[in-house]
Amino acid sequence: MESTLSRDEIALQARARAFSQAVVRPRAAAIDRDEQYPWDIVKALAEAGFVGMTVPTALGGQGRSFLDAVLVIEEMAKSCTVTARIVVETNMGAISTVMAYGSEAQKKLAARLVLEGDKPAICITEPDAGSDALAMTTRADRRGDVFIINGRKHWITGAGVSRLHLIFARVFDERGHELGIGGFLAARDESQGLRVARREQTMGLRGMPEGQLVFENLEVPASMAVLPPSGFSRGFADLMNAYNSQRVGAGTVAMGIAAGALDHALEWAKTREQFGRKIGEFQGLQWMLADMQTQLTASRLMLYTAARSRGPNGSAFPDPMLAAQAKIFASESAIKIVNDALQFFGARGYSRELPLERMARDVRMFTIGGGTAQVLRTLVASKMLGWKLPQTRDGYSPNPSLRDAAE
Ligand code: FAD
Repeated sequence: MESTLSRDEIALQARARAFSQAVVRPRAAAIDRDEQYPWDIVKALAEAGFVGMTVPTALGGQGRSFLDAVLVIEEMAKSCTVTARIVVETNMGAISTVMAYGSEAQKKLAARLVLEGDKPAICITEPDAGSDALAMTTRADRRGDVFIINGRKHWITGAGVSRLHLIFARVFDERGHELGIGGFLAARDESQGLRVARREQTMGLRGMPEGQLVFENLEVPASMAVLPPSGFSRGFADLMNAYNSQRVGAGTVAMGIAAGALDHALEWAKTREQFGRKIGEFQGLQWMLADMQTQLTASRLMLYTAARSRGPNGSAFPDPMLAAQAKIFASESAIKIVNDALQFFGARGYSRELPLERMARDVRMFTIGGGTAQVLRTLVASKMLGWKLPQTRDGYSPNPSLRDAAE
């Protein structure tokens, strides 16, 4: 696999692996047990230059590629999923949206915060608008030089720890006419109308808060609207385009967890004895190992390919079709690989003293967050058929231009 990487990429990967083993691995179990966001790890990541890697050098970053980020994410995920997700969100997602579509002032603000270690939050999902994100009701009303945002989001990663928020809302002009869905940058300030209402009780990924956010007359300067050249009417599609990097990042976290679990299983297969033989001598387990490795290699190749790709029309982001396929395949394979790795350990695999049960809880998320495996399949099929596939029963949308723009 390394033969597909440049010397610089291999060196970065090796540095990330050493950091992961020395700094992250010893902390992983406690981060899960204590359910606390690991500020010490954030500081160490920032000092080691693993946050804001993709930020342009002119803004203080390293101008690195999405593939570079993928290589680092995989190494972190082998040890600790929460750490890997911090690397995703400080190099992809909201930060790359701002770098692609933001004004100079927005870019400076986002670069400064991320390079200090802030993990920006992306605020799209609402209680009644999940897969159907266009059904969101959070609104931003123009009042002179500001937008007033009201609404509620849930399952927002980083709620309560993120400073920078990229908030998606329906935009209305001064006369109350709807313009489309836009993104707005706001720094968290509980006194100014951005409130964390509750923390979700999650199955895994417990060191990373997921929470409900309430916007109550949150005032955002009009200059903090992240506006692609297409404006508000088609802007949501462009802004969501940035999500293709986040998808590759999320798939990589799943793949990295699987790689870590497989390392453990392989080692145990060579160590544990039953019937007077190493358990790795049993063909039943050998074939499991071979299947796990095959799925892992395929996932890794799909993710690298997606990370290197670019979408149509000069997109700065991975190709949507490749990103969707890579996330579907990597996330579903990873669940199976981790489950099989746990099986190698028998009863020990079920114990909280080993990392396998944590990995099994963590990996389960990746077919859900960032576009479910079902919704991503619809995206892939739509591109294959060359058809729009509206999911409402009659293809109806209260705002057809918006729905067109998002497809
Ligand atoms: P629903 O949309 O209610 O779907 C329920 C089920 O129906 C799913 O299996 C889905 O695949 C299926 N389904 C729905 N529509 C279709 C269809 N048309 N065809 C076939 N099947 C369909 N959101 C954010 O905005 N920001 C975040 O930072 C964020 N972080 C998250 C972190 C975690 C750990 C999790 C679990 C979620 C996070 N989310 C975040 C929310 C996530 O994006 C949504 O959960 C996801 O989009 C699905 O929405 P939903 O949960 O409402 O499920």
